Amino acid sequence: MEKISVIVSCYNEEESLPLFYEEMERVRKQDFENIDFEYIFVDDGSKDKTLEEIKQLAKKDSKVRYISFSRNFGKEAAMYAGLESTKGDYVTLMDADLQDPPSLLRKMYDSIKNEGYDCIGTRRVTRKGEPPIRSFFARVFYKLINKMSDIEMVDGARDYRLMTRQMVDSIISMKEYNRYSKGIFSFVGFKTKWIEYENIERVAGETKWSFWKLFKYAIEGITAFSTFPLILSSVIGLVFCVISFLLILFIVIRTLIYGDPTSGWPSMVCIIFLVSGVQLFSLGIIGQYLSKTYLEVKNRPIYIIRETEKDMKK
Ligand code: UDP
Ligand code: MG
Repeated sequence: MEKISVIVSCYNEEESLPLFYEEMERVRKQDFENIDFEYIFVDDGSKDKTLEEIKQLAKKDSKVRYISFSRNFGKEAAMYAGLESTKGDYVTLMDADLQDPPSLLRKMYDSIKNEGYDCIGTRRVTRKGEPPIRSFFARVFYKLINKMSDIEMVDGARDYRLMTRQMVDSIISMKEYNRYSKGIFSFVGFKTKWIEYENIERVAGETKWSFWKLFKYAIEGITAFSTFPLILSSVIGLVFCVISFLLILFIVIRTLIYGDPTSGWPSMVCIIFLVSGVQLFSLGIIGQYLSKTYLEVKNRPIYIIRETEKDMKK
């Protein structure tokens, strides 16, 4: 019998979890009669009763497995841990807040089975219920990163997707520390079909993403999948060299013709400010890449497990 693994990353989701499980089970019973299921809940160091909730589910349902982290490692780490521990022929990644509707799963499964795709991704075509300023920056980010990177990032793409074993194995083989899944999914390639749906607001609890966290995540995405900012700072440097060369020529000729009355120190100060600003900016860009390299070279584990369902049975 074929098996679908459902990976759910959870961080402080005590309210949403029971609702998620109920809905997922309903869909499973209704749409997937002859297919085996396995649920892997990854507790990303939750500070509320999420782990207790998961353990209760694991007690009454043998399909439920879990991984609990020693602290909060972030959703990227949680998804990676889930992927590493799955055995299913097909793997899906879902949020615990029901923003990724399980009811789409059958359609996704059929597309893989009948149309020969390796991966079915979902993207939301609306951003209803999101602050407008956040949507605006999200759009700008996708425009920018698609210009800068060779890899295509689909605007509104969610992490919710169903993948074949083959694709999952290739994702697991990418062991980088700075994980930006949206980029990794496109990087590994394979035939992907996109299903579109309207944004759904979370059932309970609240979003874990502050604006600042999203901003840092965006920088992560850019440094992980594009070296364009480095080229940018070289280009700016070059342009400044050309401009200063022309200015030097201008000043030498002017001095030869009109002599050298002492003046122009305010303009000098402005130029020093401008040039040192550009230098610091470029240094900052290099620093970003260097810091990512630093973290990568340290080779730290992406996550640390505190307990799993195997510990429960003891
Ligand atoms: N999540 C996680 N670790 C984190 C932050 C979030 O595992 O550090 C999980 C969270 O429990 C949820 C999913 O990632 O299942 C998406 O989070 P959220 O709903 O807050 O993000 P949004 O849907 O608003 O983008
Ligand atoms: Mg959500």
